[in-house]
Amino acid sequence: MNIVFGPVPSRRLGRSLGINNIPPKHCSYSCLYCQVGKTSQTEIAPRVFFQPEKIVEAVKDRLSRLEPDERVDYLTFVPDGEPTLDRNLATSIKLLRELNINIAVISNASLIWRDDVREALKLADWVSLKIDSVDADCWRRINRPDPALRLQTILPAIQSFADGFDGFLATETMLLEAINTADEQINPLGDYLEQLQPDKAYLAIPTRPTAEAGMAAPDAERLNAIYQTIKARLANVELLTGYEGNAFAASGDPVEDLLAITAVHPMRRDAVQTLLAKSQSDWSIVANLVRKNQLRELQYQGKTYYLRAYRPKK
Ligand code: SF4
Repeated sequence: MNIVFGPVPSRRLGRSLGINNIPPKHCSYSCLYCQVGKTSQTEIAPRVFFQPEKIVEAVKDRLSRLEPDERVDYLTFVPDGEPTLDRNLATSIKLLRELNINIAVISNASLIWRDDVREALKLADWVSLKIDSVDADCWRRINRPDPALRLQTILPAIQSFADGFDGFLATETMLLEAINTADEQINPLGDYLEQLQPDKAYLAIPTRPTAEAGMAAPDAERLNAIYQTIKARLANVELLTGYEGNAFAASGDPVEDLLAITAVHPMRRDAVQTLLAKSQSDWSIVANLVRKNQLRELQYQGKTYYLRAYRPKK
């Protein structure tokens, strides 16, 4: 198995060199939507998979073979399993520091109640923690955690980590139609995120084949309503709908800009009008995108919003 892959373009991390510090599929969860398939046996005891020196050597080797104009913005621990199951995660991060590249870890947060796991994650510059639900029954249904795990120990530990972390904290919530998308799920999630105050909360939908069949994204109306509910409590919320373009580098092309921004943030009609005015364009652009089904027009609390059309996976 390759320990290092990429660099791949990532909207969240720029050009990210992936580090696979866990062989597939060692995980504490067996999420319904996992792209790597089912976890045959969940596990929660961190152990050694690769020696940190081997990981560093693999990263250096890959960096040495990059084209001169290829840059790497982040070294990202994003294995086909849970990265904090690696007992040597802290040592690997410390050793990778000599490369002077930012370090990110994408974790499911299930082991964050362990002091050693929180300490290891604190060494990273950018950490993403999975929070699909704050309701224990729903969490069990979606994430199918190891039987020894308890959501009521994970949620306060996430808060405690956030309180002592100096880096960039992101949360990621996968939205599965009819499982965690109702108001009774979203309102308490919003309350928890409001308290947590991550630097950014990502709301994702399934865009690739899932471990279990039948996992679908909410429809665009519902996705917009969820976004607005969380956005009312938290400044920084973004959608992850499978588009990796950069919403924040205005190209000057109104069509491109509109599609890039609405893939991440549903835009209110007045914001769209402002964007069009900047490029001296008229509303026919929007009408055309709606007609071609590239942009969805949605009503929410008496206002009209626009969201880039996505194909909910069935
Ligand atoms: S936590 Fe990640 S790797 Fe583990 S089952 Fe869920 S999606 Fe898959």
